[in-house]
Amino acid sequence: MQSRWSDADAKAAIETYAAQGHGADMALRVYTTRLLGGDPALVLHGGGNTSVKTAARDIFGDEIDVLCVKGSGWDMAKIEPPGLPAVRLEPIKRLYQLEKLSDEDMVNVQRLNLLDSAAPNPSVETLFHAFLPHKFVDHTHANAVVALTDQPDGEALAREVYDGRCVILPYIMPGFALAKAMKTAFDQHPKVEGIVLLKHGIFSMGESAREAYERMIALVTLAEQRLARNRRNVFVPAKLPAALAPPAEVAPILRGLAAEPLDARDGVFRRMVLAFRSSPAILNFVNGEELARYSQAGTVTPDHVIRTKPKPLIVPAPEGGRLDAFKAAAKAMLEAYARDYRAYYERNNTRFGGKKKPLDPIPRLVLVPGLGLFAMGASAKDAAVAGDLAECMVDVVTAAEAIGRFQPVGEADLFDVEYWSLEQAKLGKGTEKPLQRQVAVITGGGSGIGAATAAAFAREGAEVAVLDRDEAAAKAVAARIGGFSAACDVTDAGSVRRAFDAVALRFGGVDIAVSNAGAAWQGRIGDVDEKVLRRSFELNFFGHQNVAQNAVRLMRAQGTGGCLLFNVSKQAVNPGKDFGPYGLPKAALLFLLRQYALDHGAEGIRSNGVNADRVRTGLLTDEMVKSRSAARGVSEHDYMAGNLLKREVKADDVAQAFVSLALANKTTGAVLTVDGGNIEAALR
Ligand code: ZN
Repeated sequence: MQSRWSDADAKAAIETYAAQGHGADMALRVYTTRLLGGDPALVLHGGGNTSVKTAARDIFGDEIDVLCVKGSGWDMAKIEPPGLPAVRLEPIKRLYQLEKLSDEDMVNVQRLNLLDSAAPNPSVETLFHAFLPHKFVDHTHANAVVALTDQPDGEALAREVYDGRCVILPYIMPGFALAKAMKTAFDQHPKVEGIVLLKHGIFSMGESAREAYERMIALVTLAEQRLARNRRNVFVPAKLPAALAPPAEVAPILRGLAAEPLDARDGVFRRMVLAFRSSPAILNFVNGEELARYSQAGTVTPDHVIRTKPKPLIVPAPEGGRLDAFKAAAKAMLEAYARDYRAYYERNNTRFGGKKKPLDPIPRLVLVPGLGLFAMGASAKDAAVAGDLAECMVDVVTAAEAIGRFQPVGEADLFDVEYWSLEQAKLGKGTEKPLQRQVAVITGGGSGIGAATAAAFAREGAEVAVLDRDEAAAKAVAARIGGFSAACDVTDAGSVRRAFDAVALRFGGVDIAVSNAGAAWQGRIGDVDEKVLRRSFELNFFGHQNVAQNAVRLMRAQGTGGCLLFNVSKQAVNPGKDFGPYGLPKAALLFLLRQYALDHGAEGIRSNGVNADRVRTGLLTDEMVKSRSAARGVSEHDYMAGNLLKREVKADDVAQAFVSLALANKTTGAVLTVDGGNIEAALR
């Protein structure tokens, strides 16, 4: 492992933070915290922390000793000074004298001693930062250190590698007892550079930011060097079916199985968002003959458990063309997983007098031999975090097995962390938004009504896939709303299939499809070129059919219902003069949405549409508005608001109509008009 310390960068950090009123201690603390946080082999998603002991002034201007320690919820890679809240050092240090300290009292004392009452909670590992005398303390869950110590003889290996340079401590759960043990052990060996916590991670200490950082790099490098010696090749591959089903077809099956029916009869599910990961390292891991042993031993470092559960689910390799058999086997294995998880909960909860409330028994990682792995969570963000931790697991377990046998902490220790209120608090559970856990695909999402609809679904918590023929436009909208994008020409069945498969790999499937892409052609029907009419039918009818068929394909694989939404048009019921080429396929589209409602209602798939009129978009350009209002001798506003309510219809009004139809769980075969009132276009 290379040190990334740079004198020039350190100096720049001091200058940058001096301009914001921070001293060199804080500037360098931020600088090396970021260096550590930026390396996934050291720190992942909140798994680590740093501190500096410095001086601050209180409200009276008196100088006091403080500990600035990483606050809960901050990512080390992007830390800023507010992410290192200051607590008064002396009262925290004095806690060492206590015999016992409850978690509640520990959190309370830490919060009481914050200099800023609005600061985030200091890390759950704050106490040992305070108890150790060094100015700078760094803590990581370095892959190499956990691979070295997650072994039956992990302690002996650690002693061999760190003889004299580090104190070696057995695993103790974070909190008061561990902090006390660390301080006591350190006092007996005051010359050490670091402390190794077996099966958890490593601390390095120093009098300067650079010293603590360079020691971390040097100590982790020692572990890496030991892991590189006497390696054997792992893993021996298991026999796989000759032909495997593609992951895009496996994803919706797993997503459907993992959805918890809250009220299945009413189509209410607690869904998961999935993320697919595969790489040579992942395939080597999931294809191993002994996968059921090394993948089920536990998490590589205990705090991963809150995001990955104690163990992943293993499903069989999905044979191509036999997905029904795969689904049945995966269902049985998921049920067995849930039974095992509940039994683990019951077994361990007795130690707490039955006081811990059960967490859901759904896995967060699914290992699929032959394909890779799926990570799951309540959002795409959560799934991505679980996916990163899964890749870390693959690296650590592979390294551990290459020199010995992977053996992390046992289930009792994992349970203590998984059900520790201070760990659960990191997940920050709030109320979920109405469409959270649902995946919405919007075609023609790169502009106009489509872009507004994509934004509206994202606001309601849905994971959004923006599809558009114009890939750059789709990408720009997705970047704005934090969604996914793919190129998609809805008139090309292959292009639609590829786009939906990409969505299945990115999120696991689809729950809502807004079939919005369209364009207007004109021509007097008695004269119009047949080619024009056919082109319009390709886009304004067959395009919708391509999208709906692919959506239904994924929805049926999930088995949790779904929602089709079509951008119809008032033209479907109220033809405009010379607008036959546009209105005819739109009239057929109105029929199509009803056909879907009829044919797929029994599968819980709803089909609804929106009839909008006179919205300023790509179909009705500023130029057209200008010339038409001029032709009628009215202002642009009066032209646009030429309806019963005298209100101009905006793209966002149409977007809101799509959202309300997505939420209308008992509505299918319906069309909602968004036209400011147009009695000629009213449905009968
Ligand atoms: Zn830790």
